[in-house]
Amino acid sequence: MIIILRESASEEQIDHVVERVESYGYNAHVSRGTYRTVVGVIGDEEKIRATPLAAIPGVAEVVAVQPAFKLASLTAHPEPSIVKVGSGNAVTKIGGGNLGMIAGPCAIESAERLDLIAASIKEAGANILRGGAYKPRTSPYSFQGMGEEGLKVLREVGDKHGLPVVTEAIDPRHVELVAEYADMIQLGARNMQNFVLLTEVGKTKKPVLMKRGMAATVKDLLMSAEYVLSQGNSDVVLCERGVKGFDNATRNMYDVCSVPQIKELSHLPIIVDPSHATGRPELIPSCALAGVGAGADGVHIEVHNQPEDALSDGPQALLPDQYKETMVQIRKVAEALGKTF
Ligand code: PEP
Ligand code: MN
Repeated sequence: MIIILRESASEEQIDHVVERVESYGYNAHVSRGTYRTVVGVIGDEEKIRATPLAAIPGVAEVVAVQPAFKLASLTAHPEPSIVKVGSGNAVTKIGGGNLGMIAGPCAIESAERLDLIAASIKEAGANILRGGAYKPRTSPYSFQGMGEEGLKVLREVGDKHGLPVVTEAIDPRHVELVAEYADMIQLGARNMQNFVLLTEVGKTKKPVLMKRGMAATVKDLLMSAEYVLSQGNSDVVLCERGVKGFDNATRNMYDVCSVPQIKELSHLPIIVDPSHATGRPELIPSCALAGVGAGADGVHIEVHNQPEDALSDGPQALLPDQYKETMVQIRKVAEALGKTF
């Protein structure tokens, strides 16, 4: 940790900073510049982080040398992680050149409908089926999902089509149940900082799809991933799904730049979700291509056979044919980059 002192810091204040640092049990290394003095604090970074160094008079800024997300960092794991989703004959790898192509309806609505959608996305090349059984809706009066019945449907349809399945857990009390049926547990944008839920999901052995919170920085996302990793679950896939912006022309602001940023900071795979990021079907194909072009390890797209009847997120769903065409384009970009799905 490095303490940067104010230009106005007096000699007494500098001495006091050194005394305090030593009293906390760390070594202090003072460097005097022309305008500013900096104090290097040497010791256990985790303990130093918890020490209120910025409260010492004369201190302008305290800068960490190591990122606070240790397990998620490239230092901990310099090679890109590959997360395996599914079991038996239906295993999808995400990361290290393998693209996770996740598709399906926003919500599981019926076995017949999910079956139709699953058949179409499988034919188009998707390798993971999605569908929400518990829906985190903005309004308490909106459709909340089919619950356990939906989980059963998802499992059966996934098995029938040889697709691993991902679904969201929104409540720590449901995690065990969701883990029983799903191959991958989704942590939604609204729950990215629900630390009790993150800890419960981290205790399972199931891969996790962690969506970026709508007001979360890239570092916040990595700190949330750290919660899951710290519980012994190393299979986390991050997902850029847009953040709140000032322009309501799109549902959210698609931050495609977070993909290369995360690649610089972390070994965890990161996929993009242009469906929730844009909320507009006509923008989804190009934003999906931009994501893969930026280095994403997969694409998450909502697909519905009758968007006008959908119980949630119908207006942003791609029709099966539109998804198929998008996948043709994505495949070209993936091939150009030496990636496969
Ligand atoms: C979803 O995947 O349907 C969903 C609710 O996504 P998000 O958490 O990104 O809003
Ligand atoms: Mn949705």
